[in-house]
Amino acid sequence: MDGDLKSRALGVLNRFYGYNSFYPLQFEAIQCVMQGNDAVVLMPTGGGKSLCFQIPALLSDGCTIVISPLLALMKDQVDALQGMGIPAASVNSSQSEAFNREVIEQVYAGRIKLLYISPERLLAEIDQWSEFIKISLFAIDEAHCISQWGHDFRPEYIQLATLRQRFPNVPIMALTATADRLTRNDIARQLNIPDARLFMTSFDRANITLNVASNVSGNDKMKMITRFIDAHRGESGIIYSLRRKDTEKMAARLRALGYNAAPFHAGMPADEKDRVQTAFLNDDTPIVCATIAFGMGINKSNVRWVIHSNMPKSIECYYQEIGRAGRDGMPATALMFYSFADVITLKSFAQDSGQKEINMTKLSRMQQYAESDVCRRRTLLSYFNERYDHDCGNCDVCLNPPERFDATILCQMALSAIVRTHEKEGVTAIIDILRGSGKTDIIAKGYDKLRTYGVGRDTTFAAWNSYLLQMLQLGIIDVAYDDHYHLRVTDYGWEILRGMKQVKFSKFTYKSRTTEAKSRESRQGTLQNMPPADSELFELLKKTRLALARARHVAPYIIFSDKVLDVIARNKPTTREEFATLYGIGEKKTEMFWLQFTTAVKEYLASHPQ
Ligand code: ADP
Ligand code: ZN
Repeated sequence: MDGDLKSRALGVLNRFYGYNSFYPLQFEAIQCVMQGNDAVVLMPTGGGKSLCFQIPALLSDGCTIVISPLLALMKDQVDALQGMGIPAASVNSSQSEAFNREVIEQVYAGRIKLLYISPERLLAEIDQWSEFIKISLFAIDEAHCISQWGHDFRPEYIQLATLRQRFPNVPIMALTATADRLTRNDIARQLNIPDARLFMTSFDRANITLNVASNVSGNDKMKMITRFIDAHRGESGIIYSLRRKDTEKMAARLRALGYNAAPFHAGMPADEKDRVQTAFLNDDTPIVCATIAFGMGINKSNVRWVIHSNMPKSIECYYQEIGRAGRDGMPATALMFYSFADVITLKSFAQDSGQKEINMTKLSRMQQYAESDVCRRRTLLSYFNERYDHDCGNCDVCLNPPERFDATILCQMALSAIVRTHEKEGVTAIIDILRGSGKTDIIAKGYDKLRTYGVGRDTTFAAWNSYLLQMLQLGIIDVAYDDHYHLRVTDYGWEILRGMKQVKFSKFTYKSRTTEAKSRESRQGTLQNMPPADSELFELLKKTRLALARARHVAPYIIFSDKVLDVIARNKPTTREEFATLYGIGEKKTEMFWLQFTTAVKEYLASHPQ
């Protein structure tokens, strides 16, 4: 029986999606609901959650109802399913009521396998149509929205708790990518599905290279960002900033330098936000400079990189935001900037927030990650209580381990400058004194008379910034958040100053720590163990894809993901038969696109004899 289910499931997987095997736990989750039981599916973004309910929908009589909180997500999934020849539709407020009516008629007629709908609409209407249709499964996507613990709580989701009672014989599958344990544990309880089986895979996103750049400020940051974008030419990415005005500034600066970038934040008019989002999805605007308001509705599988121009406020947020890159499983890069100024801003946000204690703890865990000199993935996964007992080989620390040195004397210089200014100065003035700056306010205050004036002039400003940050991390100094951010010496600091303790810093080397070239080498070497596809052919295939997408008014990744283009570029199919057998190409897409893509391959081969 199960053997039979497995072969039927694999048959559907191959025919519609062009895949040959299941990802971890996909089949188990499918089997669970096919046997009539409830399931909670916890997988990271890109883990293949959608297939867990789409395959049961295809294998069952009747219609699977998919509950989704966002219009953009619904539209995207419906487009993708229709593109594979799967009868899917949605009922939503962006369509005319006449059209929605027609969709329901189609469902009555048994012609729709997957119906996407918002929770409020479902609950308002289901009594009218439930007796006329056979519901095979309720799939509740983004199920963390039901928990008040989470950051995306949506009151509309609460009503879904009644589904179990109203439809005792229809299995329920709840799915989420949230890594937050409190929220995860709350889902089954809130949905009244206490017997649901749990399917949880590793939350590691091995294809994302993790980088942190500490203490890069102003112009250097901008230079690093443009260098990064240049190294990722033609790829889509998101630059996150903490403040709305920074997103606008960033986009304007990039545009002035000739990059195609647009800002996005919650304060913009709705139609402008829609425009930016659509342009991003369609690969018309490859770079979006955004606050965290951007992303929830982004299903785009070919986001290749995410930059955080400021440190996020928690590891949960960071993880969710970098998770928007590389959903297709292809290599992607995350780069986070981290500075003294960020820590100060975020601490003052946390101080003023309602949940000061929790937010301060979350922030300090985030700082630990940024400052970590062990493998970043280990730090990250241990935060989520996941076992991971080897170094990943795909983060900046693994690729370029930091050098440590005895910094006792350096540290004493800084401490002495803080003490001699009576703990009445902030970071910048302290560094100015150490470096012997001739700034007027330094001279006016008579700081040039101090014995510490100029003792640290051999160390650059950026390096001092990093060392002071490390001193803060190590608990040697403290910042008076309520008193002009003046620096203060802690008890531990006094012990160092008096020569009772020694201290080590990691050497300031931001430039070499995040060399893109190195991480690229490694991701191609360790991650895939195969030579990179020919980039010229890949570009040609991308053009072919773009033309097809434009003609059909869908986003390019709806036609094929980057991963499928990569497979085509490696295998160079020239016939329909060769094309049809490739990974990620099902029957419908073979029929629709084989000619255009094999033609592109032939064109390429003709000009590049092997
Ligand atoms: P999630 O919803 O968990 O973020 P998706 O369902 O969107 O993930 O799947 C991510 C990507 O992986 C999609 O491109 C999907 O087609 C692909 N995928 C899913 N399951 C498989 C599989 N068994 N084999 C190969 N690719 C898969
Ligand atoms: Zn690592």
